Amino acid sequence: MDNVVIMGTGPAGLTAAIYAARADLRPLVVEGNAPGGQLIVSCEVENYPGFPDAVSGMELMGLFRKQAERFGARFVSGVVTSVKALAGGYVLTCGDEPIETRAIVVATGAMARRLPIASEAKYYGKGISGCATCDGAFYRNLDVIVVGGGNTAMEDAIFLTRFAKSVTIVHRRDYLRAAPVEVEKARGNPKIKWMIPRVIDEIIGEDLVTGVTLRKPDTNDTEHMDCDGIFVAIGHDPKTELFRDLIDCDSLGFVRIEPGSTRTSAAGVFACGDVADPHYKQAVIAAGTGCMAALDAQKYLEMNVK
Ligand SMILES: Cc1cc2nc3c(=O)[nH]c(=O)nc-3n(C[C@H](O)[C@H](O)[C@H](O)COP(=O)(O)OP(=O)(O)OC[C@H]3O[C@@H](n4cnc5c(N)ncnc54)[C@H](O)[C@@H]3O)c2cc1C
Repeated sequence: MDNVVIMGTGPAGLTAAIYAARADLRPLVVEGNAPGGQLIVSCEVENYPGFPDAVSGMELMGLFRKQAERFGARFVSGVVTSVKALAGGYVLTCGDEPIETRAIVVATGAMARRLPIASEAKYYGKGISGCATCDGAFYRNLDVIVVGGGNTAMEDAIFLTRFAKSVTIVHRRDYLRAAPVEVEKARGNPKIKWMIPRVIDEIIGEDLVTGVTLRKPDTNDTEHMDCDGIFVAIGHDPKTELFRDLIDCDSLGFVRIEPGSTRTSAAGVFACGDVADPHYKQAVIAAGTGCMAALDAQKYLEMNVK
């Protein structure tokens, strides 16, 4: 039986792997269908400490992995498709192979929801972003759109006014889900314009985004709008489908953890990174909680394995 299986190879899973490997736990790390995690699609990471000249997401994740390998972490490609409790641990299915383990670190991330239009995939990372905190500073003196009507959309729009020349909120309904106080703040900001109710029918560009076709849902009238960037703020889907019967999750699907730890409601299962983080969703936080998960798993194994 393995000591600990780490599910995920983003900053959380790879940091857990570094710490667990260095503690001689010989962790088995399952890569999932996105080795390196979400950051892989990010051309430039400017806010990860230790890289004053920025670093590509690909390079950063390559370095994390190299460090985990140096201490003996074992990697397996594939996706975990089931997790069941058994005496003294858990059995996971990955491909045809069952994997038995005493502890699990869940670092499966949370995917930013995407716009359901073909041209969105073409321009993701080339003017379309799911993270205002990460990419806002790249849009100084440019015109950007924020898609969404919830609190995150309002917060992102207000944040982006620090850099952008203008921020237009596009939302498909004529009412907003966001708290009135957030809406008031956005409405009071002279840089923020409103296009509601509108949906984006198409994203237009060459190498980068240059504009969108907007449609009024009630009349189907369309119009063109120039813009340099689009921030999609329509929520995240935490990757917790496999665990819904095993560990407590909140109403949005994020893993509930004991405050100040990475312990979940199931003994020996620890969660770190975006999958347990409805608020911040930043690589450095994922890495920090990945460290916590490995230390929590180490402690659990010391206390529970004879
Ligand atoms: C475009 C973009 C730019 C960003 N830029 C920045 C930035 O500049 N700075 C910053 O701090 N943050 C940035 N972020 C946010 C950052 O990427 C995330 O906060 C961080 O990647 C979360 O790390 P994580 O390890 O929790 O999850 P993820 O990086 O999402 O990794 C999840 C991992 O779990 C694996 N997985 C999923 N399901 C399974 C399964 N069933 N079995 C096995 N493995 C599974 C996946 O393959 C993946 O390896 C950006 C995000 C995006 C999308």
